[in-house]
Amino acid sequence: MSLTLYVDGARFRANQKRVLAAQPRVVPVAKGNGYGLGNPRLALEAAEMGVDTLAVGTYDELAQVADTFPGSLLVLTPWRPFAPQVANDRVIHTVSRIEDLNALLAHQPGARVVLERRTSMLRHGLSARELRSAADVMAATPQARLEGVAFHLPMAGASPLSEVRRLMTDVVASGLPQTTIWVSHLSDSELADLARSWPDYVIRPRIGTDLWLGDRGALQVRATVLDSHAVERGDMFGYRGRSAPKNGTILVVSGGTAQGIGLEAPTGANTLKARASAIARGGMDAAGFVRSPYSIGGKQRLFAEPPHMQASMLFLTQGSPVPEVGEEIEVRVRFTATLFDRVEIR
Ligand SMILES: *Cc1c(COP(=O)(O)O)cnc(C)c1O
Repeated sequence: MSLTLYVDGARFRANQKRVLAAQPRVVPVAKGNGYGLGNPRLALEAAEMGVDTLAVGTYDELAQVADTFPGSLLVLTPWRPFAPQVANDRVIHTVSRIEDLNALLAHQPGARVVLERRTSMLRHGLSARELRSAADVMAATPQARLEGVAFHLPMAGASPLSEVRRLMTDVVASGLPQTTIWVSHLSDSELADLARSWPDYVIRPRIGTDLWLGDRGALQVRATVLDSHAVERGDMFGYRGRSAPKNGTILVVSGGTAQGIGLEAPTGANTLKARASAIARGGMDAAGFVRSPYSIGGKQRLFAEPPHMQASMLFLTQGSPVPEVGEEIEVRVRFTATLFDRVEIR
């Protein structure tokens, strides 16, 4: 009855070993929907990997991992005065504004702190000058524990190495003691390059996607066929009472808006040009049917109408293979945006 994520455990863990072998100082990231697998499961995997630190996205997510993962817990979203107060010594706070650094240390002088330096992303972070002020604040609070400086880098465009070099110059000039540099979205060779250039710093990559989803072949998503109804041209169906443009089958499958099944397939012919050529062919999509992420017999199928909360209705034209009720069919989803009913690792 479910939208299920099937994980080939051996391949999933072989990929983790590959990442760990290339980056022994990796900080796994468990956040959001846990990359489809759920944060509690990722905490267990990280514990088994033997890493010393796990990163979560938010303070609210700490509870999902803290019982399972025994090491340090880095919160990626910067601390704010309105953040839930946690006085857990395993937690490392990310701090991105001087006023927050002062407020956090006033409250918790022995806090473990990573200072975030702003990058071209412009999401959060201190300017070069603010980083120097932060160094003064840290020096004036001897109990405060500096755990490093973080850079969150953009993913697209040219190699971010030249930007990282400029940022490293700021760190060196800030007056902070030599420390750990936490980075995201750098390749193995870029990380090796940094380690060579700044041997007095420990470079630690925070990795989510490549660690958990790096071997897509280890992951399969399947929905269950819940019902099927033969229809003739003109028959009515669905919430909107539309009529079938041709003879065929309405197939009801598990997965809907509650699981994050979108109206549009995550990839595929979504361009205007592709639409125009579909209309020129007089295909079903010309009748207003939108391509779904569900496929049968290797072919992506069309939604009969927009997905419902926990089920979707597909339209199969006459002659297409019709799977039995209870059979599973493949679904193409974005792992970071899908809430699976079940995750089966085997
Ligand atoms: C999500 C996140 C990461 C991990 O990103 P992936 O692309 O999943 O590897 C690293 N750093 C920060 C600050 C993040 O928010």
